[in-house]
Amino acid sequence: MKQIVIISGKGGTGKTSVTASFAALARKSVLADCDVDAADLHLILQPEIKRREVFRSGHEAGIRVSDCTGCGVCEEVCRFDAIGRAEDGATCFVRDMSCEGCGVCVSACPVGAIDFPEREGGEWFISDTRCGPMAHARLTPGGENSGRLVALVREQAVELAKERQADWVLVDGPPGIGCPVIASLTGTDLAVIVTEPTLSGAHDLSRVLDLAQHFHIPVALVVNKYDLNADLAVRLEKEARERGAFLAGRLPYDGAFTEAQRQGLSVVEYGKGAAAEEIKELWKRIREKINHE
Ligand code: SF4
Ligand code: SF4
Repeated sequence: MKQIVIISGKGGTGKTSVTASFAALARKSVLADCDVDAADLHLILQPEIKRREVFRSGHEAGIRVSDCTGCGVCEEVCRFDAIGRAEDGATCFVRDMSCEGCGVCVSACPVGAIDFPEREGGEWFISDTRCGPMAHARLTPGGENSGRLVALVREQAVELAKERQADWVLVDGPPGIGCPVIASLTGTDLAVIVTEPTLSGAHDLSRVLDLAQHFHIPVALVVNKYDLNADLAVRLEKEARERGAFLAGRLPYDGAFTEAQRQGLSVVEYGKGAAAEEIKELWKRIREKINHE
């Protein structure tokens, strides 16, 4: 079983459309939507949820007013300014959004008036889709630990792939280069970087290449909408090649991306336009590349 993560450095490069198309082309694959802050693979693959679980991310303090004596110790020890005083000044309360879950106030309270339950940071799901089973998640708005949630989604996808003897785990990675991307990248067999020939695309590509190099992950490059700036597309490919990336191919600007998404289909399922044929070729090259390494 091989794991491929599709990443981009930033959103809106066509990464999810490419992932969905690979999912439609790959036989015996399991999908993982690791873009947990702004998941949208489900818009194309319309998963039927089979299992739903709460994602618990750390703890948060909560003061039991009935037991609080208003001594103010917790206010003094909290370094995150997360504790306030009630209007009458008699008791304290925790500002939920500011609590970092360090637990210092819990140990410091002389009368044990502070509870410290686990915080619900979102939900994760196992679903069936027409292209195979999928692990995905939804982070609560303002929720933290998206790196941990990404790692959990990947673990679930790998477990599913083992159970079902799948050949591929296809991971739709989060944008950026932060902790969630690292969690989606580490230990994969190949990172497919989808980029665009724009100045910000060039900047993002360098940063994602740095990241993949740091974790010794082989890279394949796809330049989407290459015809928007063919000269820059060539420069991006040159940089990627010089840094050891495999040039998987280019995709033209194609309105089929938007139309397919509007119809809840991947580009190859939609089947119209030049990009669909190109993506089939891309997948073939990537499959051959990974199977020969
Ligand atoms: S758990 Fe830590 S951050 Fe939260 S209120 Fe207590 S001391 Fe402040
Ligand atoms: S330390 Fe405990 S008793 Fe004192 S104000 Fe805080 S919650 Fe209330």
